[in-house]
Amino acid sequence: MIPVAQALATIAAMLEAAGIPEPRREARLILTHALGCKSSGLLTHDEVPESTGMTFAARRARHEPLAYITGHREFWSLDLAVSPATLIPRADSETLIDAALHHIKDRASVTSILDLGTGTGALLLAALTECPAAFGIGVDRVAAAAVLARTNAHRLNLAHRSAFIVGDWAEALTATFDLILANPPYIPTTDIVTLMPEVAGFEPASALDGGPDGFVAYRHIIANLPRLLAPGGIAIVEAGIGQAGGISALAEAHGLTSWGHADLTGLPRAIVMTALGSRTQKTTW
Ligand code: GLN
Repeated sequence: MIPVAQALATIAAMLEAAGIPEPRREARLILTHALGCKSSGLLTHDEVPESTGMTFAARRARHEPLAYITGHREFWSLDLAVSPATLIPRADSETLIDAALHHIKDRASVTSILDLGTGTGALLLAALTECPAAFGIGVDRVAAAAVLARTNAHRLNLAHRSAFIVGDWAEALTATFDLILANPPYIPTTDIVTLMPEVAGFEPASALDGGPDGFVAYRHIIANLPRLLAPGGIAIVEAGIGQAGGISALAEAHGLTSWGHADLTGLPRAIVMTALGSRTQKTTW
């Protein structure tokens, strides 16, 4: 047995040597995960077995994302299970929910929500918690993602208001929706190797790779929005850095009006689209 402070210091040193930012914070998270306690619970352990957390620390030192090690990530204050089948939900994507709430006047009037490329179900489940009368459909091409999203819906008591299907974007759907959300893969293929090792080496290419110019999924999704949007409905997609202008141009080409909605750093991270004419003012980038 070793004092908990020593276990923390050993793990933090391992992480620091591997170039992990915030090694002490991550060491605490790894140790609390290994001990199965809350972070305040660390104080109640005077001594722990020497090996505590070492397997997890070794994985993190190889730059595996912490969320894959703990199996959890918080999104919009919801605790979500994550797996290597899906992208890890990011705070950036909360901008889409923020944008939805900003543009929806009466949340109770939203009855149908679609999330294309649902992954963990993060966007759909967050939107369902905010729109109490809505039923949501999450689509993912990867069956393991759809299964995980359904598990998350059950855990959050949203299973009775959601369905998850395996499919190619909205190909199988003929219904229309009041709110459509998507965080599609948008990284240009050749840029993927330049991303952080946590992303490039561990997150699924199917959730990142947007084809040669990063726009393959946007083209497909936006071309289908006119038939999928209910009257007065809005669609919101996540934009990568520098992609807002291209997305707006695509929207315009399909007869949609679009706006950018800024993330916390002021970048237009969410692009809101609606059928042309439902709003006169238009923002271009
Ligand atoms: N935001 C992710 C990243 O920058 C990419 C997500 C995506 O392609 N949708 O790593």
